[in-house]
Amino acid sequence: MTAGNITTPHRMDVFLTSPWIPAEWIRAHGLQPRGLWSAENFPNGSWPLSAGVCAFAEAAVQFVAALGREPLTVPPRIGERVGECGVGALRRSDSIAQRIREGGSSPPPAAVPSCSRTDSAIIFSTSCDQMRRGFDTAILRGHRHAFLFNLPATWQTPAAGQIFRSELERLGKFLVEIGGHAPSPAALRRVMSQSSQTRKRLLQSAQTTSPRQFAEALARFHWNGSRALPPPQKAPPANQIPIALIGGPFLAPHWKLLDELEAAGGRVALNATEMGERSLSPSFAYQSGAIPPFDALVRGYCDNIIGVFQRPNTRLYAWLKPRLASRGVRGILLRHFTGCDLWRAEAQTLRETFALPLLLLEAGSEPGAAPRELNRLQAFMETLT
Ligand code: SF4
Repeated sequence: MTAGNITTPHRMDVFLTSPWIPAEWIRAHGLQPRGLWSAENFPNGSWPLSAGVCAFAEAAVQFVAALGREPLTVPPRIGERVGECGVGALRRSDSIAQRIREGGSSPPPAAVPSCSRTDSAIIFSTSCDQMRRGFDTAILRGHRHAFLFNLPATWQTPAAGQIFRSELERLGKFLVEIGGHAPSPAALRRVMSQSSQTRKRLLQSAQTTSPRQFAEALARFHWNGSRALPPPQKAPPANQIPIALIGGPFLAPHWKLLDELEAAGGRVALNATEMGERSLSPSFAYQSGAIPPFDALVRGYCDNIIGVFQRPNTRLYAWLKPRLASRGVRGILLRHFTGCDLWRAEAQTLRETFALPLLLLEAGSEPGAAPRELNRLQAFMETLT
């Protein structure tokens, strides 16, 4: 990329499939971490589902397959500009939807310049079997730069921390092999400090901005480390019912659900999806320089994974409990992808633990909630009034 006579070297994109893979470690190696769920061309919902396969995992595999082709040829479901995350692109997709509602037709599929390049890398995680199989598929299809990050399934023993540490070291070697450089402790600390500040400020903004703008700000942060905060908003109307949105990946095409919930009289007071507030939980403690930054990175992630996949997953419940109480949450929307048994299985435990009404919503390929799910959502909200 050139601007006048200044040349900025291209930084290889390293796509992450989980917010629990440390983006700071990749950035410190001189590479560009990108939450692939924020990509403009992430093919959510536009591919036929294989039986029993989670749509998110399948979309990740299709996204990786498309990395080998340039320009990428997928229908412009979300956007069509080069180098843009799904946020700005989604705004245009809303206007496309508007045109369709007004009697226009859907734009034809077209060759879409990809924001990614053929030399990109992809990091899968072992957070579920579907993602493991996604990695296997990427390898079988010959993707050159794929890595499987072994996220410890347990967290209560020192061995879990040791696994995380050795996985980060292994990832570091991989990053150097594909063109990164091993970071100095000072460089790593710098990257972590900046990220830590942004995470804190975004978290502070969660309750003073609209749920939609919060989701957009987080998508930008996971896409390029953006420090832009969402604009503050006036206090929400008192008659809106505070709801917790809990579940796995919550992608740009589905943010319309936030508007649909507001139209039904509710408001997301806690976005506890995979790309919501939980994704900001890693934090780094150096204790005035007494702890080397690499150790702080290991602990900062390992001690703060708030996921459904760990056993026991009591940290998820411990994290939810004070937030549900302090935000006056009166109902839970548990949103899961078809084929995601991990989240679906939590429905009963969530009901029993928090004694709150809970609606299980299935993520489909439509923006927002599918028509049948929308009816269920409206009926659920009526029971809370
Ligand atoms: S949504 Fe569920 S099945 Fe899909 S990748 Fe995430 S944890 Fe795995």
